[in-house]
Amino acid sequence: MSHPFETFCNAFILLIEKKTTLVNKASWLLETTGASDAADLRAALDGELKTLFSDANTYHQLLEWEKEGVLSQRELNVLVRAFKQAQVDPELLDMLSRKEALLAQSYATFRPQLDGKEVGVNTLKEILKKELSVEKRQKAWEASKQGGEVFAPQILELVHLRNRVAHELGYVDFFQMQLTLQEIDPEWLFTTLETLSQASEGAYGTLMQEITQAQSHRFGVTPEAFGPWAWSEPFSQEDPLDVEELDQLVCGVDMIEACRHFYSLMGFDVSAILARSDMLERPGKSQGAFCVHIDRKGDIRTLNNVKSTLKWLETLLHELGHAIYEQGLDPKLPWLLREPSHTMTTEAMALLAGRQAYRSASLQLLVGKVSPQAERSLKRRQLIFSRWVLVMTTFERGLYQNPAQDLNQLWWECVERYQKIRPPKGRKGKADWATKDHIGIAPVYYFSYLLGELFASSIEKAIPNLATERAGRFLQEKLFFPGNSLSWDRLIAQVTGAPLSPQAWLEEFADT
Ligand SMILES: [Zn+2]
Repeated sequence: MSHPFETFCNAFILLIEKKTTLVNKASWLLETTGASDAADLRAALDGELKTLFSDANTYHQLLEWEKEGVLSQRELNVLVRAFKQAQVDPELLDMLSRKEALLAQSYATFRPQLDGKEVGVNTLKEILKKELSVEKRQKAWEASKQGGEVFAPQILELVHLRNRVAHELGYVDFFQMQLTLQEIDPEWLFTTLETLSQASEGAYGTLMQEITQAQSHRFGVTPEAFGPWAWSEPFSQEDPLDVEELDQLVCGVDMIEACRHFYSLMGFDVSAILARSDMLERPGKSQGAFCVHIDRKGDIRTLNNVKSTLKWLETLLHELGHAIYEQGLDPKLPWLLREPSHTMTTEAMALLAGRQAYRSASLQLLVGKVSPQAERSLKRRQLIFSRWVLVMTTFERGLYQNPAQDLNQLWWECVERYQKIRPPKGRKGKADWATKDHIGIAPVYYFSYLLGELFASSIEKAIPNLATERAGRFLQEKLFFPGNSLSWDRLIAQVTGAPLSPQAWLEEFADT
């Protein structure tokens, strides 16, 4: 006779499998068309899916089985964590998703004023990319922070609601809850981040000198004359140097074909994925990029908005990296485990693939050219991005720990400490922290990108030459195939032979 857990699983999985597939299809419709019917459909289906996890009796039964021990321990563990999050007052959850939708709308519709005219964020970013007048740059940067005062009260309401959910479930705050439910030990995370931060201080300091020199030369001012507006976007999270030169590398290249060829060298056929994907810009369509596995049975799609820039070559490779991971999951795994082990493990594959847009050997295969500037840019990007994740993660910890503190002061303390950017005058009492949309709508998420980068470096150390069938087989067998049958830490130890650490990343990008 089968264990009651197996019987329960068989019936329950059928339900969530169907519902999840529908949610994914509605999302795809929404992201590719922007239609409000699709938005309603997704919200309704998402609500129905969440309700399936809210039954308290089932949750307690799962906990009983967890105590007794069952054969499919990992499946049970996945279910327990999914149910746990839903064991709060349904009204509270409902309020939370309504307020999140309102905030998303505020982010989408707010237009800052520049010289008395309404402008889009993209216009401001364009100014920060190209404008040479420091005065105009400063004005554009300041305009990019105007939304803070509108978004901050809305975010704070959400922070309080999220903390209420966390308290109901017995956690100190929402930040700690999110990490724990994602199987991340908060103490381990901050020790790792601090190690990385300290060991890369020197390399980042040298980089800051390089950027300061280049930009003060470019704008014709002394380094003291500029602040965060010396960077090419509002948060100083991207490499501001050599942008136009690097884009020359992909001029006239069929990037989609180049990616298809690149993956074929690793032994992966991505033709079917590309055929199902939505690649070009269109009115109404979402402007970002993502990969989705609609049914966990091979219907894998990516959404892109390809333009002729090196960044888009990186993004194409990145999304296809997620896609080959999904394609390589063991089809015999039970549905619940037929997914990557953790966000960071699939991000690692995607980031590793994206890096190839800057690696000489891969660039030669992709665009038929090499560039020492691209390799240098990769190093700068890694250092700059790591600092940005340190700011985001440290700030978010403080935000949920004590939302009543002076948050703008906390924000600039983090920026000064990690990004080494002095707060400009006149920011007291503002809400600059609230203009980063992830803080409001994708909370406690950024850290997994950086952990993904660390894991990507360890993989690259193990298989330096990615565009080979040997590398493809290694990834397929060790990383993709096990799916979520192993927790992330066990999976990583199996792939690289050691626990996750910043060592390989530091060796390459911080010269340690
Ligand atoms: Zn990704």
